[in-house]
Amino acid sequence: MKILRLATAALAWTLMAPVATHAADAAKSADIAHHGLKPSDFPRWHQVVPNVYAYEDLLTTPDFTFTTNSLIIVTTDGVVLVDGQDHDEQGTSLVAAIKEITPQPLKYVVIASDHGDHVNALPVVKEAFPQAVFVSSTASLKTMTTLKRPVLATELVDDKQTLKLGNTDIQILNLGRGHTGGDLVVYLPESKVMFMSELYDRNIFPPMITGYPTEWVSTLKKAQEMDVTWFIPGHGFTGGDAASLKADLADFTKAVELVVSEGKRLHAAGVPCATEKDCPANAQANWGHYADFTAAAGQAPRALARAYTEIEGKLPK
Ligand SMILES: [Zn+2]
Repeated sequence: MKILRLATAALAWTLMAPVATHAADAAKSADIAHHGLKPSDFPRWHQVVPNVYAYEDLLTTPDFTFTTNSLIIVTTDGVVLVDGQDHDEQGTSLVAAIKEITPQPLKYVVIASDHGDHVNALPVVKEAFPQAVFVSSTASLKTMTTLKRPVLATELVDDKQTLKLGNTDIQILNLGRGHTGGDLVVYLPESKVMFMSELYDRNIFPPMITGYPTEWVSTLKKAQEMDVTWFIPGHGFTGGDAASLKADLADFTKAVELVVSEGKRLHAAGVPCATEKDCPANAQANWGHYADFTAAAGQAPRALARAYTEIEGKLPK
């Protein structure tokens, strides 16, 4: 069971190269072990601002373990959950957490990332809260129809939708493509919290297997131009103060920009990167401190291959 779980959950994260041996700066690592944490410390959650909770459970691979995050928003007229987790057991824990936090029923589930580690637990959530309405982008709906046990959205947001629950405005926004092509963010204009989902993977090398590298940069910049105090990532720790969450988002944005610029430089120099497994260009890339980001060894050649795909005009429409 555990192994099977690993096989599906960790698929997009598995290392294709040996783990980097240089000591990663613990402060710039998303790996729980680098922060003295154990798997038994999870799931866990904390209140970001009154009635808004960042929830962390784990994504485990043979090489590292970091958090996969959800957002729980409590209003006087029900709860909104943004992103699920990876498997049934995690779904059960997530449902238990919502019930522990509030007696309010879950009214909406926003699928901000359609990747398995954010949606596989949703059948359990739906079973516990059958009245909840599931929301995604059209692109994510299309992607999710290919999953084994999808909970498909019945409400679609392609630009912007505001949910008004009690006195709380909850904006579901499509700021552009990035990590999946169907990326959504959730923004609370009163408390100035923005849940970025996988558009922001804190201290993790940009995971680009389904990414749109250049558009991802613009999408992140658009988010950073908005009136946001708390940027909450989809992977990597959700804690720390608002300033460090913001600074790490700026740093992550630079990492995505670097993938684009190193891709252009190496492609122009004629250094090949046909696939992530056949990418001599990766050895010549200057990743700077991003080489120490969690998952860099596996994700860097993958990202470079995706950047090449974009340069060659072969990204999926
Ligand atoms: Zn993910």
